[in-house]
Amino acid sequence: MLKGKTALVTGSTSGIGLGIAKALAAQGANVMLNGFGEVEAAKAEVAALGVAVGYHGADMSQPGEIAEMIEACQSQFGALDILVNNAGIQYVAPVDEFPVERWDAIIAINLSSAFHTTRLALPGMKARGWGRIINVASVHGLVASANKSAYVAAKHGIIGLTKTTALETATTGVTANAICPGWVLTPLVQKQVDARAAAEGVSNEEAKRRLLAEKEPSLQFTTPEELGAMAVFMCSPAADNLRGAAINMDGGWVAQ
Ligand code: NAD
Repeated sequence: MLKGKTALVTGSTSGIGLGIAKALAAQGANVMLNGFGEVEAAKAEVAALGVAVGYHGADMSQPGEIAEMIEACQSQFGALDILVNNAGIQYVAPVDEFPVERWDAIIAINLSSAFHTTRLALPGMKARGWGRIINVASVHGLVASANKSAYVAAKHGIIGLTKTTALETATTGVTANAICPGWVLTPLVQKQVDARAAAEGVSNEEAKRRLLAEKEPSLQFTTPEELGAMAVFMCSPAADNLRGAAINMDGGWVAQ
């Protein structure tokens, strides 16, 4: 379905971003990866699906590096058709103890980076008459949790950016939508499981059970594969008129 298209997925060396990159590649899209850590392993997993794979190591807190990455994607693949804004970090502390530099980093990586990629990718998408902007927000774009002020503010913000982008592109072949996962067992969440296991003196399994029981009625983690399938749907013709939506895949979290 996506043969001949190029997708850029930020933060795709791990977790949800890698899951989405693989799902788009399985549909034939060439993929530009981004992120830190296990770069070669991520490239190999996506290349195994038979598509062309690129990588750019832009730090998503740096607007200049983001511009270089968009430029590199367009010159290497000739276009940027599908933009998945996924890179994100977390930090947990009460608002009156929240380190200022952690606030700034979360706003830069989880929110402002999507503004920069969107403003730079949109002209090419409009010129070609087709584009997909998929913002990986969170249930925390729809509701809050204590001790996550920067993350909740950034995720509410990215849903606002999604809606505005969708309105500005409403009469074009470009769409913008957000995906709002509940708990997904990635390194980002494993850190919170570890912290809980240590604080409450319980096993890893019990900490996971408690984490889910507190927020997620299904008592199950959403998977990167399920989120990848949602991204594929957003790229399909069936989603041509899906605009400015924020779809939660959260085991019932925000239905409560
Ligand atoms: P993860 O830690 O597995 O992956 C994060 C990715 O972002 C990695 O590839 C990492 O290298 C990259 N990254 C981090 N800082 C970066 C920077 N400055 N520049 C470039 N890349 C950077 O986390 P994940 O759980 O897969 O999270 C992906 C997205 O999904 C995030 O936006 C997160 O907020 C969101 N999300 C996660 C969950 C969850 O439960 N895991 C739930 C809802 C939303």
